[in-house]
Amino acid sequence: MLGQMQNQPLLISSLITHAERHHGSTEIVSRRVEGDIHRSTWGQIARRSRQVANALDGLHLAHGERVATLAWNGYRHLELYFGVSGTGRVLHTLNPRLHPEQLAWIVNHADDRALCFDMSFLPLVQTVHAKCPGVRHWVALCDSDKLPTDSGIPGLVSYEAWIGGQSATCVWPDLDENSASSMCYTSGTTGNPKAALYSHRSTLLHAYGAALPDALGCSARDSILPVVPMFHVNAWGLPYSAAAVGCKLVFPGPALDGKSVYELIESEKVSMAAGVPTVWQMLLGHMQQNGLKFSTLKRTVIGGSACPPAMINAFNQTYGVEVLHAWGMTEMSPLGTVCTLKNAQLALSADEQLKVRLKQGRAVYGVDMKIVDESGNELPWDGKAYGDLLVRGPWIIASYFKGEGGDPMRYDASGKGWFPTGDVATIDADGFMQITDRSKDVIKSGGEWISSIDVENIAMAHPAVAMAACIGMRHPKWDERPIVVVVKKPGTEVSRDELLAFYEGKIAKWQVPDDVVFVDAIPLGATGKMQKMTLRQQLKDYVLPGV
Ligand code: ADP
Repeated sequence: MLGQMQNQPLLISSLITHAERHHGSTEIVSRRVEGDIHRSTWGQIARRSRQVANALDGLHLAHGERVATLAWNGYRHLELYFGVSGTGRVLHTLNPRLHPEQLAWIVNHADDRALCFDMSFLPLVQTVHAKCPGVRHWVALCDSDKLPTDSGIPGLVSYEAWIGGQSATCVWPDLDENSASSMCYTSGTTGNPKAALYSHRSTLLHAYGAALPDALGCSARDSILPVVPMFHVNAWGLPYSAAAVGCKLVFPGPALDGKSVYELIESEKVSMAAGVPTVWQMLLGHMQQNGLKFSTLKRTVIGGSACPPAMINAFNQTYGVEVLHAWGMTEMSPLGTVCTLKNAQLALSADEQLKVRLKQGRAVYGVDMKIVDESGNELPWDGKAYGDLLVRGPWIIASYFKGEGGDPMRYDASGKGWFPTGDVATIDADGFMQITDRSKDVIKSGGEWISSIDVENIAMAHPAVAMAACIGMRHPKWDERPIVVVVKKPGTEVSRDELLAFYEGKIAKWQVPDDVVFVDAIPLGATGKMQKMTLRQQLKDYVLPGV
């Protein structure tokens, strides 16, 4: 017998329709590329996304065709989120930090038909446009009077001129909820870029899941600042969750330095912010230097890389801000786990609580996870056994765009497909997962695994360390031994021996790195993650002491 409930497809257009109808006057504030602050509302975003819809119809782009963006977080980007996906086209957010060659490769691989870009990326577009013959429409996200006359880009129009003459009325099409809505290429820390192709259904289910109180806890009373870029896994889905709950959104544009982010948090009364550790490192540095405090910020979501304990402590103890340590992947839309405490843990001491908060957290409902050994046998949830982390759920990919890389799934005895995350983790009896490494970064010394994250976290707790990367180096006896590569904070000093002594009593002796290598900078990838492969290449002539 079937249930007798209304069968409405879960569509992205319903999010913006809801936000306009129920939260039409709630503000969307953006720092623009020009540096000024722009103020809009959910009502205006909705009207302008319908103009985008009509402008796209005017270009005769078919359903399913890709419209790319090369843009910072801002209101026009948000309008494209709804206008493009709402009409059944696929929003393809490009990462502007990629090398131009790689960018052109991705545009061609995705068969992008239109490309909308912020004016700060004009030089980049000028470099790549001739290599992207499939792109028929180029749109600069600016007013018509800001459009250069001699850009060299054929048919370039300004966004405001493009949508300006369009009607703000449209009927969003009734789509199959499983139709593709947006796509994002993985940042390529693991081989060639491959794309996750999200659907309307996966996006809406993720928006519900992410907004839950024990996940990111979004509400109409929040003012949310996604520092995480809208070109990286849809800013962790925050624009969609924000439309669902009707909160204020604050966009930082290109200004991600500590001073600019701090000023925006204060002036727009931000209650929740989200970003990768490197961004918060800059913010905390600025605040420490200038003796600043937050007046409205309550929570900050930190993910994308492991959050060092020193950062959790600084936010919690110095600034009274709760850190939500979160884990996910491009392939998971991205949310997998969030570290929010259970009742029993609230009674623990501050130190014990910190140990829990360091973990990547509990699965958000919708995501199932398990750890397995090399033969695929499930390992116990005892907080000690570690193995490959596998996940399944309705907002996790089943395959990559164009079937690239074959079938990524691993099948269990009952035939259920699990996506292998490439992470190595433990899960404790309360269901808290902790990443110990990316499988390719694992250091194996004398047959025993050393967690590079543990080694890095200890270095990061030293007052003179700005950034630390632990990598394994070939060793004739032990196979591999860890070293720690360190960038010092400006104006501070620490010697190799002092830093090595800092490890004493914090981890087992054999886990202490064999050496410290000081460098001016650690190579970062397009999403702000440390590029250990590049770092290993840079240190290819390095020899361990005594070897
Ligand atoms: P890529 O897979 O190309 O690195 P993603 O942005 O999808 O790009 O990164 C996902 C990976 O980032 C995860 O598999 C994990 O290794 C790492 N990661 C994400 N969040 C965390 C976290 N909180 N702690 C440790 N690692 C994390």
